Amino acid sequence: MISLEGGCHCGSIRFTVTFASREALDCNCTVCTKKGFLHLIVPRADVTLVDGDLDDLVEDARLSEYRFGTGVARHTFCSRCGIHPFYVPRSHPDGLDVNVRALDEVARDGLEAWKIVPFDGRHWEESVESIR
Ligand SMILES: [Zn+2]
Repeated sequence: MISLEGGCHCGSIRFTVTFASREALDCNCTVCTKKGFLHLIVPRADVTLVDGDLDDLVEDARLSEYRFGTGVARHTFCSRCGIHPFYVPRSHPDGLDVNVRALDEVARDGLEAWKIVPFDGRHWEESVESIR
């Protein structure tokens, strides 16, 4: 298993994520395209947040939350710097979806070590079974 640290830009949101391989989904849906989010979906227990859990961070307003459409996905982002380090995805509401671009290793070395797999989020209902 690989364990990497990451966070937002200003440092107020920090985490460690543990995962099996450097493979990220590149989703073409409306919100991921605008964010530039690269997805690493893991069980919630495989992300350790430095300062409390996700609900604590939303409650004390360090994370802001944006919901649209079905409202299942919780698009969380740092209330100070606006970066999206992770969020709760509609496809895995019990998991967390980490933004590979928010990992310190990627911010430092780029994406060369990563396999990027396209995901057709514009046709979400037809595509989602491929990642469940
Ligand atoms: Zn921040």
